[in-house]
Amino acid sequence: MKALVKAKPEEGLWMERVPVPEIGPNDVLIKVKKSAICGTDVHIWNWDEWARKTVPVPLVTGHEFTGEVADVGAAVTEYKPGQRVSGEGHIVCGHCRNCRAGRGHLCRNTLGVGVQRPGSFAEFIALPQHNVVAIPDDVPDEIAAIFDPLGNAVHTALSFDLVGEDVLVTGAGPIGIMGALVAQCVGARKVVITDINPGRLELARKLGVRHAVNAAQEKLPDVMARLGMTEGFDVGLEMSGAAPAFRDMIDAMNNGGKIAILGIAPTGFEIDWNKVIFKMLHLKGIYGREMFETWYKMIALVQGPLDVSGVITHRMGIDDFREGFDAMRSGEAGKVVLDW
Ligand code: NAD
Ligand code: ZN
Repeated sequence: MKALVKAKPEEGLWMERVPVPEIGPNDVLIKVKKSAICGTDVHIWNWDEWARKTVPVPLVTGHEFTGEVADVGAAVTEYKPGQRVSGEGHIVCGHCRNCRAGRGHLCRNTLGVGVQRPGSFAEFIALPQHNVVAIPDDVPDEIAAIFDPLGNAVHTALSFDLVGEDVLVTGAGPIGIMGALVAQCVGARKVVITDINPGRLELARKLGVRHAVNAAQEKLPDVMARLGMTEGFDVGLEMSGAAPAFRDMIDAMNNGGKIAILGIAPTGFEIDWNKVIFKMLHLKGIYGREMFETWYKMIALVQGPLDVSGVITHRMGIDDFREGFDAMRSGEAGKVVLDW
């Protein structure tokens, strides 16, 4: 089969022929229809320090996908060939303390699809049946192909009660924009998203985020005054991975504010811990999606009031993958979905 492989420990990804993955008794073989490019894939392409430490070479990359069941192992009872599915890209061990307590997202032995085991930039991917998620008929393929990042947004946004609360989202990348839309959907009062890239802010506005602010041009206290906010934000969703954005957020939170942190900032960045203490802030790190609570909520949201289709700005055939990665690197793209 054709697959986009990290074939060599250097910059790039290469389209190669590799064997179709073999499946064990508990596995599902999925024919991939669409697979989206994640920022993680760009790190793997660039072969940065994180990628060098994490990714075994050679490896089939990619983890945001949707497809159709092609074959099932002897012990698989829930899935049949032809069924439309996506999949949870974190493979958990099932035997650690958290897994056994039903908190798979907290597994300490998590392996990443397309990061530590073969991924979805391929004609076929094999997944344990536990990780496969059936897609309802009314959810389009391209939306199911971005369930992984949408799930990040939903997990982060729904970490705290947002009803009637003022919410600050830092970073209007695809995940930040989807997080802001989720916050609006579930009944937050004011939702403000910040970025320093005007193109990203434009996309956020186009998709209906009501307050999109250029943090390089306007200070948050001025924005808050303009919006009639006299105290501070109740909930923060950190979706930029940028230390200055996180510091701005801490300054703008009300006492007792709650912050869910998805963005991956550089190791060792500084914040003023005294502000965290004296404002009595709650900080919660987010990794991936809750299994499978996030999936239930996300699917219900896209079947209902949440429209994230506009986050997909580029659609192309897999043979144009270079163009797709260029679009991701330009910082102007939302999600890029590759058609297999
Ligand atoms: P992205 O890089 O597309 O978006 C980040 C945005 O933050 C960019 O638009 C950038 O311009 C903006 N930004 C930079 N400096 C800023 C500042 N000072 N103020 C406000 N915005 C600023 O990333 P994405 O794909 O949307 O993902 C969001 C973040 O989540 C990334 O850091 C990514 O690495 C991380 N992530 C984490 C997980 C997890 O499980 N924890 C999973 C996926 C992604
Ligand atoms: Zn575990």
